[in-house]
Amino acid sequence: MPDQPGRFDSAPREPILGGPASVVETACPLDCPDACSLNVTVQHGKVRTIDGSRKNPVTDGYICAKVRKFGERLYGPDRLLHPAVRRGRKGEGQFRRVAWDEAIELIASRFEAAKAKHGGASILPYSYGGSNGLLTQDNIDAQLWRRFGTSRLARTVCAAPTGAANMALYGKMPSITYQDYPEAKLIVLWGVNPSASGIHLVPFVREAQKRGATLAVIDPRTTALARSADVHLAVKPGTDVAVALAIHRYLFATGGADEAFLGAHTTGADRLRERAEPWTIERAAETAGIDAAALARLAELYASSSPALIRCGWGLERNRNGGNAAMAVLALPAVAGKFGVRGGGYSMSNSASWNIDRTWIDAPEPDTRVVNMNHLGRALTEYDDPPVDVLFVYNCNPAATVPDQRRVLRGLEREDLFTVVFEQVMTDTALYADVLLPATTFLEGYDFAKAYGPINLDLGRPVVEPVGEARSNADVFGELCQRLGLLRDDEPTGELDLMLHVLDRLPPAIGDDLRGGALPAPPFGTAPVQFVDVFPNTPDRKVHLFPADLEASAPMGLYRFQPDPRTERYPLALISPASERTISSTLGELPRPDVKLVMHPIDAEARGLADNDPVRVYNELGEVQCPLKVAPSIRPGTVSLPKGIWRRSTRNNTTGTALVPDTLTDLGGGACFNDARVQVASLAIA
Ligand code: SF4
Repeated sequence: MPDQPGRFDSAPREPILGGPASVVETACPLDCPDACSLNVTVQHGKVRTIDGSRKNPVTDGYICAKVRKFGERLYGPDRLLHPAVRRGRKGEGQFRRVAWDEAIELIASRFEAAKAKHGGASILPYSYGGSNGLLTQDNIDAQLWRRFGTSRLARTVCAAPTGAANMALYGKMPSITYQDYPEAKLIVLWGVNPSASGIHLVPFVREAQKRGATLAVIDPRTTALARSADVHLAVKPGTDVAVALAIHRYLFATGGADEAFLGAHTTGADRLRERAEPWTIERAAETAGIDAAALARLAELYASSSPALIRCGWGLERNRNGGNAAMAVLALPAVAGKFGVRGGGYSMSNSASWNIDRTWIDAPEPDTRVVNMNHLGRALTEYDDPPVDVLFVYNCNPAATVPDQRRVLRGLEREDLFTVVFEQVMTDTALYADVLLPATTFLEGYDFAKAYGPINLDLGRPVVEPVGEARSNADVFGELCQRLGLLRDDEPTGELDLMLHVLDRLPPAIGDDLRGGALPAPPFGTAPVQFVDVFPNTPDRKVHLFPADLEASAPMGLYRFQPDPRTERYPLALISPASERTISSTLGELPRPDVKLVMHPIDAEARGLADNDPVRVYNELGEVQCPLKVAPSIRPGTVSLPKGIWRRSTRNNTTGTALVPDTLTDLGGGACFNDARVQVASLAIA
């Protein structure tokens, strides 16, 4: 047996062979709002091409360049092909192949030993579900962790602040879907760049513009959509809450607030008005570093346009004020009375629109400690009540994606930590594993792909056999449950079993359509109108503009602004927006041109830097070395590195997360990626 896992030498580098090919329909569950329907061409048992199908009318036959390349992950040199155990030092990536039975036995015995020594909470399951559908997260895995009594994980690295705001305000009411964007007279894209992170929205925005809609973009960068916008506010990262509160103040002060709507459908408007009061247009503009006249224009446009639509993205949440920013932005349509017409209201994650709760997981949550996933480094290096003795990582790559990378790596290097990584490819985290388990991709197994932009749900099918000895989440967690005596006889143990089990427990109309290969009809239709077809899912069906529990949990209360963390030493704000290369960090292993730090010409000139210069970006937490791209497309005082890059993408093997503090957002316990403050200098003279 070879010692090194993860080498697969065949397609797609081999020439296309003659002979029959078949086209298999499936769906994309990756971390993107769109959930495309796919046609995958398979020949000689291998994926040849991946393309869009027209089954899903919103994604309409085309897909992103990222997933077209997914075959390079499937058959690439980084693919994990069989279980393995570490034989070198942690982080070196030296492994010895073992059989599945041996790997499962080793893991189960370490679980039992950790539980006997420090209790079940000394085991930390660590996962994220962005690129997983209904089947490949929170099923048999959740059952295993709950029944074994492990630590619980707060999955907060993304969408926690916006999720907390949306839940408190509207109880996650379904929102405007792509199809209704052309109905809007004003579209505000706030902290979102669909050209990189949800491409199927772009044609709907363009169609609205063609029909005469005004477009406003709020983003520190001049993105392609910002270039064509009527108003572009290139705000300083972390100041969105001030901008939104200034619009609230304008609405209240000029008669733009819809008092009838506020009286009938909301609570807490007076408290919101009181908190917005200090935020004049001028003060907010100065705080955000934008032109006051442009902000005033947006406020006027918002007050006077209908239908007016705000797309609340995830860029605005990744800072100390992120939860309050999401609250203030999402509250705007309620204050201005923009609901009740097609194309009017707000648009954000529609993941809750199917009303599917996982009743099939028959295991109550244990009363064990909760670990915020953004504090992984602390958990591994500081927690001692109990210490983390076993870490089980799946569906994510924390060594590259979680704040305070240096501390995370220090934790992963601990010789007394037993780390299992269940993964598709040799990620930055997998290099630190004691036991590696190869996982199937979405092209090798079943899943239910649930869109969170459009309201769409589809069954993803295996289009090829698993590569090497890769196995599904359901198979592996089922086997671990069995080995640990945590499975009842009537419970599913493998993927096909689980898929049928879930289908039987979905609402009958949904289950039947999925079985028959059709797209099921969502409970409120594919394009519900807010306050006509759908209403807040709050107990009193009202919008809670000033929820008391959030007021108590936010460090300075609701709708408050915490100042910029910049210092004289570290004056530049580093942001890490989604790119056209990766889906979160998925596909970060593929070769790419040099990752570059983007900087405005004014900042470059002040530092004597030129395009393509090698630079060091640094602060007290770490340093990233890479070439510089000097471009006016980013506001002065802000620099950017792409989200989701792997350590191999930079010259010194670090990612932007090495510069990110592990402080938490004001609401929801989210990551403050955009609160990294840095300095940049030439690498040549370092
Ligand atoms: S990542 Fe998004 S755009 Fe790309 S194929 Fe998947 S759903 Fe479609």
